[in-house]
Amino acid sequence: MKEQLRQLKEEFLCLVEKVTDPEALETLKTEFLGRKGKLNAIMKEMASLAVDERRLVGKLANEVKEAIEASYGEARGKAEKAKKAEKAGWERIDVTQPIIPERGTGHLHPVTQVQEELEDLFTSMGFMIADGPELESDYFNFTTLNIPPTHPARDMQDTFYIEGYPGLVMRTHTSPVQIRAMRKWGVPLRMVAPGRCFRNESTDPRHEHTFHQLEGMVIDKGISLAHMKGVLERVAQHLYGKDTKVRMRPKFYPFVEPGVNGEVTCFLCKGEGCRLCKKTGWLEIFGAGMVHPSVLREGGVDPKEYSGFAFGFGLTRLVMLKYGIDDIRHLESGDIRFLKQF
Ligand SMILES: [Zn+2]
Repeated sequence: MKEQLRQLKEEFLCLVEKVTDPEALETLKTEFLGRKGKLNAIMKEMASLAVDERRLVGKLANEVKEAIEASYGEARGKAEKAKKAEKAGWERIDVTQPIIPERGTGHLHPVTQVQEELEDLFTSMGFMIADGPELESDYFNFTTLNIPPTHPARDMQDTFYIEGYPGLVMRTHTSPVQIRAMRKWGVPLRMVAPGRCFRNESTDPRHEHTFHQLEGMVIDKGISLAHMKGVLERVAQHLYGKDTKVRMRPKFYPFVEPGVNGEVTCFLCKGEGCRLCKKTGWLEIFGAGMVHPSVLREGGVDPKEYSGFAFGFGLTRLVMLKYGIDDIRHLESGDIRFLKQF
C-alpha cells in the first residue's frame, strides 16, 4: 500500500510536467485527489490495516497529497502566466530585431477606389449597400427583370453559362440585386449594389468580359422622376464638380418604364466639345428609369401603392473617364506597371 502511494505521487509528478493548459491541470488534479479520485481509491483499503500500520499509511498519504497539491500549484501558476503573455502578444515581440527592408505598400485597385468613394456618397444620402451572387440564376438575371426567355434583350447580354447547370449564368448586370433586395428587406427601400458583371464579348479597347457596375434603387410611396433627377444630379456633381449638368433622353431598358439614358456635361471641355466627348459636350455615364410594375411585382411590391426609380452606373466607365484610360482591358490585366499609376 505504501508502494502504491509512492507510485501515485511519481505518476502525478510525471504527468503534470506535460500539461500546460490551466483547465487540463484542474482535470488532472481531480483525477488524483477528487472524491472519486485515485488517492481515495487507495485509502478505502485502509480499513483492513492494523491500527499502527494505519497511522503510518495515513501519514504517508497526507505527504503524498501535499506533494501533489504543491506541484499542481506551481504548474498552474506557470500555465496562467504563459496564457496571459500569449494574450498580450506584444510580450513576445523582440524590439531589438532589425527592421525588414521596405518592400513597398500596395494600394486599392482604381475601380475599388471609385466604388468606395461612391459608397460613401450614397450612404451619406441614406442608401444601404447591398450585395448579390455573381453566379446568378437565369430566373433572377433575366426573367424577374422583365426579360423572359424569348425576349430579344437577351441577345444583347450574352454571358457565360455553367456546364451541367442549365439554370445558372454569370450575371450580366447588377440588376438582379434589385429583386433580391426587395424580397429580403421589403419597402420602403433605398439601396445601391456595386459589383462585378460578365458578358460574352469579343474583347477590344472598349469591351471586356468582366466589368463593374453600380446599381441603385429607391422605392417608396409617391416617388417620381423628379426624385431620380435630383439624386443623379447630386452624384454627377460629386463626381465632376458643382457646375455639372445632367440630361436624360428616352432609352429602352426592359426593367424600367419610362427609361432614360443619362449624360453629364463633359468635365474636360465643360460642354464645349472635345475628343473625350466626341465633340458633343456630353458624356454618357448611366442608365435609369422608373421601375417597371412587373419588376416591382417580382420583388413582392404592390405597384398600385409604391413606385420607385432605379439607375445603373458603369463603374468601369467612370474609372476610365476619371483617369483617361484608353483601353478597358488594362483594368483586369493585373499588370503591375498599370496598377502602380493609381
Ligand atoms: Zn468634352
